[in-house]
Amino acid sequence: MSASHTPGPWRLEVDGLDGHLRIVDTRGEIVSDIGYARSEVCDDEEHAAILADHRLMAAAPDLLAALAWQLRDHRDCACEHCAVLAKAKGGA
Ligand SMILES: [Zn+2]
Repeated sequence: MSASHTPGPWRLEVDGLDGHLRIVDTRGEIVSDIGYARSEVCDDEEHAAILADHRLMAAAPDLLAALAWQLRDHRDCACEHCAVLAKAKGGA
């Protein structure tokens, strides 16, 4: 069984009260809610690193689409870029 990811674009949502991080889709539906509230981490530096991770995750659908577009002419290719694309799509 294979499933496709939630369509992008995604965006990072930061709760104004406690700093909790969520990734949501264009409808505002939660894609991922694994972020920590600012009060749950030790310091601002740790929270900034978690925020950076979530920004990267939120950009994933756009990055995936851009990579797929760049590799649109690769057919039965074993280059490292195609391997990354296959990994992102659930392949090896
Ligand atoms: Zn390739």
